[in-house]
This record gives sequence, structure tokens and C-alpha cells, in this order.
Amino acid sequence: MGSQHHLVVSQKVQKGRIMIAAVKGFKDVLPHEVPMWLMCESKARDIFSRYGYQEIRLPIVEHTELFVRSLGDASDIVEKEMYTFLDKGGDSLSLRPEATASMARAYLEHALDLNHPTGKLFTFGPMFRRERPQAGRLRQFHQLDVEAFGVASPSLDAEVLVMLHHFAREMGIEGAVTLEVNSLGCAQCRPLFREALVEFLRGVEDDLCPDCKRRMKTNPLRVLDCKKEGCKKVVAKAPSIQETLCDSCGEYQESLFELLGVSEVPYTLNPLLVRGLDYYTRTVFELTTTRLGAQNAVAAGGRYDSLLKEIGNKDIPGIGFAVGIERLVLLLQQMGREAVVSPPILFVAPLGEGEARKVGFALARYLREKGIGVEVSHKKRSLKANLRKANRIGCPWVAMIGENELAKGVILLRNMKSKEQTEVPWDGGAAVCSMILKEDER
Ligand code: ATP
Ligand code: MG
Repeated sequence: MGSQHHLVVSQKVQKGRIMIAAVKGFKDVLPHEVPMWLMCESKARDIFSRYGYQEIRLPIVEHTELFVRSLGDASDIVEKEMYTFLDKGGDSLSLRPEATASMARAYLEHALDLNHPTGKLFTFGPMFRRERPQAGRLRQFHQLDVEAFGVASPSLDAEVLVMLHHFAREMGIEGAVTLEVNSLGCAQCRPLFREALVEFLRGVEDDLCPDCKRRMKTNPLRVLDCKKEGCKKVVAKAPSIQETLCDSCGEYQESLFELLGVSEVPYTLNPLLVRGLDYYTRTVFELTTTRLGAQNAVAAGGRYDSLLKEIGNKDIPGIGFAVGIERLVLLLQQMGREAVVSPPILFVAPLGEGEARKVGFALARYLREKGIGVEVSHKKRSLKANLRKANRIGCPWVAMIGENELAKGVILLRNMKSKEQTEVPWDGGAAVCSMILKEDER
């Protein structure tokens, strides 16, 4: 029964044939969506590099232990969202649910604390979490992940936030997002807050969801991060972690805010902001929007001064953030942004096989070598059908080569917008090329 059920959900009936569909929560990024993705990636590469970050490429599979140790075994991710499997050798492996742990692992494994000039790294790629799929929440999603290792100073925290803000500005989403900041304190002062919070939660336990009732015992700070409306209402009245920060955490935050001020980065202090993972200390932040429903965080991150100790027993501090690309793209689309790929400039239509096709091939080759995009009609089509096809692709020019043109030694070049047709001498391609470029300049 069970396996039959699985067979049914993975299939769609299309035109009477059984077709295998993509796995739930795993999405294709279609050709018309890719330009937007490329824009996000290239803007990120450009901006991050100006701040001294270098790209690193990491595997998507790691030892399960890496995530259990870094994220904490009581985190939602490790508890229920991870894609974990035993490989044939008996090792427990997991698809990475996030990149920070992998980045820290790579940093330590390759002694980048000694070998990398800035300790600033970024990566881009898919992450995997078995969550309930909805708009802006997938099981395979993509992050731009940025991490800076080796420095525990508000100066670096400020620079990271300035860079995130810079990225948001360049992406044109500055007006649609809010940078929320908070401090989670340190090993000295966080326990005080934890105590105060637990005491508060005990009084309102009945109003919490079953998950939060459990979290109260395992990791009470997570209750502040619950997405359920009921819990959100309850925690709005919770004590503020800002009240229990120790002097040094308070001063640290003050310096950060001063530097954000001189950098003209607007931010909101949100004392309820916590992160879902165990490893954060002091500065935490999110870039949120009101335009994506419940999935309001476009980017999120924070400082983690004990993560590398947890993973590799080295006392190296770090700070970083991850941008969710699907959510960024949704926001851009919602704001009416478009990124398009330019269609080929010329559609070559040989009206006949043999000589016409050979000339068409020579013309296409000449122009492509000159950097001009060309699409060749490979099917036998009438002139009318060729023009229709060129129109559909969006080519502004069509080169027609028929009996007539061959006899005269010309190419019939049609401007699809003005519908003007010109006989251009066939000289191997140079004349067509200069005509197209000339028009292009106007
Ligand atoms: P959320 O609170 O929305 O579940 P999170 O706190 O679990 O997010 P992080 O682990 O901090 O998210 O990941 C950073 C960013 O990655 C998020 O701000 C979001 O943009 C994106 N992200 C996280 N989970 C998903 C997902 N399942 N699908 C799409 N994007 C995601
Ligand atoms: Mg989450």
C-alpha cells in the first residue's frame, strides 16, 4: 500500500501518459528566471569582493556530526529537517541545511586561519531542509553565504552590516526591507536572560504550541522565534534580552550602532530577534520584508564566537549571513523588477538546402565570431514561417537566402521593426555585420 501511494504522488498524468514529476519542495529554475538569479549572483560577487571576500566552493554533503555539533541537536533543523542517510560504507551523511558549518569546517581543515589573507569568504549554492513547502519555503533552496573569520570586534560586525545594506541598495530592494538587529549576549549574560525568559514562559505555558512547550525546556530562546501566531502574541510580552546584557556586550553593541550610524545604515533594534541555531553570540540580524507573507526574512545572520571551538577546538571567532535567493527573487518580482536575456540579434533563414544553407552557415559563423548572437533555422520552412519564428524568438534582424539572392550574390536583410529589406552584398559576412552594427548604434 505504502509504496503504491508513493508511486501515485510522484506521477502526473499528462496527455494520457504517466510522467514523473519533480520531488515536492524541489523546484526547477526555468530559463526565464535564470537572468534574475544571475543578476543576484553577479551583484553579490561584485560587491562582496570590494569588501575583501573571496569565493569558496563547498561540497553539499557533510558528515551528519558536523551539523549536530554546530547547529545543536535541539535545533529544528537537526531535530526534523535534515536529509540524512547512511551511505554504503555505513557513514551517516547529510545534505547541508546551511553553509556556515561547512564553511567553518573548510576554514579549519585547510588552516585558512594561517593561509588565507583576509579570512573573508562567500559561497553560493543549494541548501536542503525538509520543511513544509510553500511560497518562499522550499526543501531545496539557495543561499548566498558570507562568513568572516578571525576577528571579534564591533568594527567587523558593522562592516558586515554595511555590506549587506550595500547589497540590498544595489539590488534595489532597500526601500522594501528593514535591517533588524539584536544581541544574544555572551556566555556570561545569556544565562541570566534564559532564566528570566523561562520564568516568564512558565506563566504563559498553556498558550504555547506543543513545540514551544518542549522548546521551553530544551532551548527557551527558540520560543521567541516561533512562527505560530499564538506564540508570537505571547512572546511579544516577554522580557527583553537587552535588559540583561552585561557591560561588555552592551558596549560592544553601542560601538556597532555608532559605526552603523556614521555609515548611514538604517536599522531597527528588535529585542525579540533570535536565531534558530545554537551557535550565535552577541550580534544577530535579519533583513526582513512585509511583502512576502510569513516568509519575511530575506537574509539572516550573526556572530558565532564559539562555533569553531565546537567543530575544531580552535578559539576563532566569526560572523556571517545568508541571503535566501528564492525569497530575494520573489521580492524583486513582486516589485516589478525584470532581468531578461537578450535574444539573438539575427535569424538566418536559408530558403532551401544546399548552397543557401552553406552561405547561411558561413554568415552565422562570421557574426558569432564577431560577438553577435545568431539563430539559424534548421528546419525547412516557408518564408512566412521563418519570419514568424524569428518574431517569436525576438530577433531584430532576419537574413534571407533564396535562389534569387544566390544568383545575385546578396543576402536579403530584413529589419523586423521597420520591416525594411535591404540587399547586402555577400562578402563572407562583413557587410551584414557592419549594417547590423550601424543600426545598433543609432
Ligand atoms: P525562517 O525563519 O524563514 O525559517 P531561518 O531562520 O530558518 O528562516 P536561516 O537558517 O537563517 O533561515 O537562513 C537564512 C535565509 O535563508 C533565510 O533568511 C531565508 O531567506 C532563507 N531560507 C531559509 N530556509 C529556507 C527555505 N526552506 N526555503 C527558502 N529559503 C529559505
Ligand atoms: Mg527555518
